Amino acid sequence: MAAYICNDLNKCVGCGLCMGSCANNAIRIEDGKAVIDQNACVLCKVCIEACPVGALSLVTEGASNEADTAAYRGVWVFAEVTDGIPEPVGYELTAKAHELAEKRGDCPVTVLLFGKDAETHRTSFIEAGADHVLCSDAPVFHDKLDLPYADTLCRLIEERRPEALLFGATPFGRSLAPRVAARMGCGLTADCTVLDIDPENGLLLQTRPAFGGNLMATITCPTRRPQMATVRPGIFQAPTAPVHTEGSCEALPFVPEKGAVELLEQLVVEAGESIRDARIILSAGRGIGSQKNLKLLKALAEKLGAAYGVSRPLVDLGWADYSHQIGQTGVSVAPDLLICFGISGAIQHLAGIGGAKTIVAVNTDPEAPIFSAAHYKIVDDAASVIKSMLDTL
Ligand SMILES: Cc1cc2nc3c(=O)[nH]c(=O)nc-3n(C[C@H](O)[C@H](O)[C@H](O)COP(=O)(O)OP(=O)(O)OC[C@H]3O[C@@H](n4cnc5c(N)ncnc54)[C@H](O)[C@@H]3O)c2cc1C
Repeated sequence: MAAYICNDLNKCVGCGLCMGSCANNAIRIEDGKAVIDQNACVLCKVCIEACPVGALSLVTEGASNEADTAAYRGVWVFAEVTDGIPEPVGYELTAKAHELAEKRGDCPVTVLLFGKDAETHRTSFIEAGADHVLCSDAPVFHDKLDLPYADTLCRLIEERRPEALLFGATPFGRSLAPRVAARMGCGLTADCTVLDIDPENGLLLQTRPAFGGNLMATITCPTRRPQMATVRPGIFQAPTAPVHTEGSCEALPFVPEKGAVELLEQLVVEAGESIRDARIILSAGRGIGSQKNLKLLKALAEKLGAAYGVSRPLVDLGWADYSHQIGQTGVSVAPDLLICFGISGAIQHLAGIGGAKTIVAVNTDPEAPIFSAAHYKIVDDAASVIKSMLDTL
């Protein structure tokens, strides 16, 4: 879909107010008329508001489902399957979709489950909250290549019209979701940390950090469907017990073309153990003071059978590997117990610990923001607390 600002030359009086309003220097006055540099224009529409004679307008061309939102119903979840095993984020999103659908009312949850042995996992998605599972074990889905997946999703969306479609923000989800959104001519909100729905109009309220993580923005997509969002693994909870027992399964009624890309070889890089799945995490921030103290924390973690995490400055200092970074630009974790030592609780860090069941924070500053997220508060020196814990074990 193409969009651009159009200037009606019959109305334009060449006053230059649009030129003055443009923050991107995309407008100049030539021969008494405004000329828009479409390459520099970012479609912010400020010039349209600035024009006193209504000469400027936004023109969109191509695919658009703008007028048809009422014809779309239901929440869909794309459940990614890797080597025959669904990614856990698929269950987390199904549970969230179930919650949204209950609030919306008369809103079925459909899970799209494609990949090797996908069909064997149908029931588990119904138990997680799906009303309907659409699955396919077709070999074309065994390699995670964007094209056959995108073709399938777009065809299904056109035929069945879901009002919302959720993806896990895995590497594959991050690649596939924008491709589908672009083809369908709708928006995509990446890395949502909160999802809600307006039961009246079905608007998906997609909240995510904005402006470098300094504030949380709630984004809506009022005119396009489906409303599409990605959510990082660990942000929502997968149900621990079945929430749902009745649901239907359907085999995908077609097999897509393979597409132009073929996977010849896959090189697997050993990523090491991920802290994403750890049940207990001891986590250190800048208040840990030194690499020596960080070693103590690692020793304590080992004794407790826990994983260790860090805030971003410790990765920047080279004290810890990025795979241990917790937060908006690191990993989202959801342990049963998280103990934070010397972490201030910046919003970007808190974005990664929302799923933790119990949080204990140790900080010398009684006003540290981490304490507002913590269940237990210890105002003390991080290293001293670690040493006393080691002494008692
Ligand atoms: C776009 C963007 C993305 C970001 N992504 C992330 C991310 O993914 N993860 C992340 O962590 N950060 C991220 N950040 C950085 C974030 O804004 C903070 O700067 C960072 O989380 C602060 O780390 P900290 O709490 O360890 O350090 P500080 O903010 O320096 O806090 C140190 C804390 O330790 C306490 N302290 C000091 N001495 C002691 C002591 N002896 N014992 C106990 N406590 C003590 C202090 O009171 C303070 O609260 C991001 C920032 C941006 C702009």
